[in-house]
Amino acid sequence: MNGKTITILLIICTVVSSLIADQEYWQQYVHYDYKVKLDVDDRALSGEGFICYRNNSPDTLDRIYLHLYPNAFKDENSTMAREARSQNYRFKITPRNNGYIDIIEFRIARRDLSESVKDAPLIAYNIDDTILESRLPEPLPPGEELQLYIKFYEKITSIVNRGGWRGNQFDLTQWYPKLVVYDQNGWHPDKYHLNGEFYGEFGAFDVEITLPYNYIVAATGEVIEGDPGWHWVQVDTGLSDTEWERSYQQQLEEIRKRGLQQKERTVKFRAENVHDFAWLASPDFLYERGEWHSIPIHVLYNKNARQQWSRKVVQRGERTLEWLSKRFGMYPYPQLSITHGLLGGGMEYPMLVMNSGPWEGLIGHEVGHIYFYGILANNELAEAWLDEGFTSYQENWYEQHYYGDRGYEDENPPDPKSWKFKLNPKPTSRERTVSYLVDYLTSGYNEPLAQYAQDFKGGYGINAYTKGAAFFGMLHKMVGDSLWDEICHTYFDRWKFKHVNEQRFKQVCEDVTGMDLEWYFDQWLHRTVNIDYARGKLSKSQQADGSWKTSVDIHRKDRGIMPVEVELTTVSGQRYLQKWDGRAKLGTLVFETDDKPKTVVVDPNDIILDRNRMNNGNMSIQFLPDNPLSFGYKPRDLYVIKYAPKIWYNDVDGVWVGARLRGSYLEKFLRTEAGVTWGLRSNRLGGNLKFGHPIIPNSDKLQFDLSFIQQEGRAVGNVGLVYKTSRMRYSPPRQRMELFFSTAQLLENGEQYGRRKIHAGGELLKVPEWQPGRVNKISFGYQLELQQLMWWGMLRMQAEASPEFLGSEYDYSKLQGELSLRLGGFNNYIASRFFAGRFFGSETPLQERFFVEGANPRARFEKFYLRSVGALPRQIYYHLPGGGNLRGYLDQPFNSESLAALNIEAGSAVLTSIFRHFLPRWTVLRLVTFYDVGKLKMDDKDKTLMDAGVGVHFRGRMFYAPVNLRFDFPLWVSDPLPGEKSFRFRWLFSVSNSF
Ligand SMILES: [Zn+2]
Repeated sequence: MNGKTITILLIICTVVSSLIADQEYWQQYVHYDYKVKLDVDDRALSGEGFICYRNNSPDTLDRIYLHLYPNAFKDENSTMAREARSQNYRFKITPRNNGYIDIIEFRIARRDLSESVKDAPLIAYNIDDTILESRLPEPLPPGEELQLYIKFYEKITSIVNRGGWRGNQFDLTQWYPKLVVYDQNGWHPDKYHLNGEFYGEFGAFDVEITLPYNYIVAATGEVIEGDPGWHWVQVDTGLSDTEWERSYQQQLEEIRKRGLQQKERTVKFRAENVHDFAWLASPDFLYERGEWHSIPIHVLYNKNARQQWSRKVVQRGERTLEWLSKRFGMYPYPQLSITHGLLGGGMEYPMLVMNSGPWEGLIGHEVGHIYFYGILANNELAEAWLDEGFTSYQENWYEQHYYGDRGYEDENPPDPKSWKFKLNPKPTSRERTVSYLVDYLTSGYNEPLAQYAQDFKGGYGINAYTKGAAFFGMLHKMVGDSLWDEICHTYFDRWKFKHVNEQRFKQVCEDVTGMDLEWYFDQWLHRTVNIDYARGKLSKSQQADGSWKTSVDIHRKDRGIMPVEVELTTVSGQRYLQKWDGRAKLGTLVFETDDKPKTVVVDPNDIILDRNRMNNGNMSIQFLPDNPLSFGYKPRDLYVIKYAPKIWYNDVDGVWVGARLRGSYLEKFLRTEAGVTWGLRSNRLGGNLKFGHPIIPNSDKLQFDLSFIQQEGRAVGNVGLVYKTSRMRYSPPRQRMELFFSTAQLLENGEQYGRRKIHAGGELLKVPEWQPGRVNKISFGYQLELQQLMWWGMLRMQAEASPEFLGSEYDYSKLQGELSLRLGGFNNYIASRFFAGRFFGSETPLQERFFVEGANPRARFEKFYLRSVGALPRQIYYHLPGGGNLRGYLDQPFNSESLAALNIEAGSAVLTSIFRHFLPRWTVLRLVTFYDVGKLKMDDKDKTLMDAGVGVHFRGRMFYAPVNLRFDFPLWVSDPLPGEKSFRFRWLFSVSNSF
């Protein structure tokens, strides 16, 4: 068979098999009938219920499974808790905050039995984590029904992962024994995982809830009996604040007067065509009502949030329902409840969402989930992209539709011409998202989108939401507006109230468009390729009739394939757009225009996640003031160069002035830096150059680094490679390896710079710390960092050789190692660091030796504020960690060719709680005690030095970057300076951790 025949056969097979699959589609039916009572004092729920289960499958079932999700919060051994630990989540399940569900009675009967299931015998079962498994007393054949009776007691957790209690609010989510889905792939007894959500069997719920009368309740479903209490707390938005407050107090008084708070409230809810049921209750809810096409919208929020929620949420809910109904299909349920949940962010349930705030984007996302998850129900654990991606995309689409490129921020759009915008330009929300995603795709940590939530190595969120949304957005662009509209409606009509998956959605897309989309689904869901199209040769010629003919080559430079738009703009501003399928390595497009062509740009609207737009024909350079606030500004079509003036001081040059330019594409590629300085007193020039760039395509792991600096009497150059790798992109375990060649030397007239000021016996001395002569060395470094919930460890090793044949004037080699361990968290801990290092060879330059107090002069040179002699005011002691790290010897530059040291430090965050009211959020103030000891060789004699003291360490955040400030007081040293006492007030500060 030739290739064509095979392709045709394959297409036929796919079509036939999918038709068969559609025809054969079946799903189980389940009806829950629960009665529950909320005990607000015990924070517990007791309940009983009947579950009717109809086996619509062609299989005979011999067992049944139920989810007991509350058990995820039972103790530290639950699957969820173990996953949380492995991802360094900092929470602990204790008997005080835990939650679980106990099954008191469990009975099963075939539906055809005349007697009640309550009289059926008790059934044995097994509970493993959040899954109950039970063998059926007799097998359940196709088409038959089963009845279950369950009596349970549930302790409600106060760990609000999704539901739980806080204060007097109770969010009951995943609270009841729930049938595990049985589908074409069999049973899905998936446990409650840290990442990943749920999969439910469609059916109906009758839930009767009894709770104290002053509790206001909302739930999935319609109220069919009883009073949920809404009218007591309904906000009359026509009243002024004070009028409303008065009427609200009157209502509460009314409840008190009538003694209603002693009483109970029983409300019965009914929901059909849903696969989950959630509810929540609080005496502090307020209620507002909206309506869209006769569908009531119930909004319930905490009374403290009235200013933020009132009116707005109702409006946003109405607008969202209109949007979803128009885009996909009429909202099919009798109500929508938008409620104020305890969780951070938001969470979706059928007909009901729990949101932490009133934001339009959040409402659009969560209510969108009622379609993508609720009505079109996928297995969220297996295919999170199908619900998170789809709802994130429709949310972006909504934002773009109503607000344009700048999105919700558009209420105060920045003026691009204002100096404020020029100083601190802001990307649009779309640009931000694309940059963020492309950065991930090219990080080396990209993972396939379609995999089980718990199998992601760390990219679950960015994949399911951001890449998932991009998957639908690019598909929309690719098929065009009208076909996309048809896809959305067909998907809804064909699959509402059913289980969907990749194949079912793909079939809809192919049926509607007539396209073969296998390659698109495969590429974006199952592989990790990148897109890079480049504009190639351009030839234009004027025809005899005066018109122009332009031919453009387009190169596909990476494995990823996307149909690509190419836009030609003529000198008069006319635009011509052509599309190329992007499959071959090289394509040529020909434009015929009346006017002379001016520019040709590949992917002009930036829609295909092109990883490198520098070669798209639209690149330009932007100069910006270097402003720390503009960190994270990554325009997709600009090489950004940031400029900054520089001014500093040293004792030799006096004040020096200069300037620095830093450039990069997307803060990642072609990173360059150039600086120049001029000493006002000395008339000496200095300067530096840097370059960095990733070496492996689509990975940040291996970087090339080059730097050269000639300044303040020294010339230092480094060139080498840095390899960094970690299991997850942003957290340990991680490893780092580096291989560098460096050259460093003291320049002519450099001795005056290569000195350091120290205080001795009340006098200020300048001692040399840098020896003349060139040091050319090769160094290899290895670093391993590990972290668990309660400990952290780091191993560092470094080997250096400075042989004569490299042109070095010092012939030596050096080995050093360092092991740091910390037990406890960042707040309360005990930590130690062990260091050992040794030189081999006869001549060792002073600047490279091991220094007792901290880093050696060669390392200090890398910090501009330590490089400059006399820059720091003479009373300020700055500590750069390293070497022996004996903080008490900052004024005594003891150094050695062999050194072993031990540092011990214990910290406690007591100060954080004492000064809580004065400290910004996320700030930790620690009280620390330390002891350092080091053994070194001086003048061929072994010497042991020690110090001890206390410190105050501050840890916080500024401009999203962590900030450390450390003040240490080494009050005791074993070897004080001559004339000094062992015990004395000494101090130092640093912006780095002690180790
Ligand atoms: Zn979501």
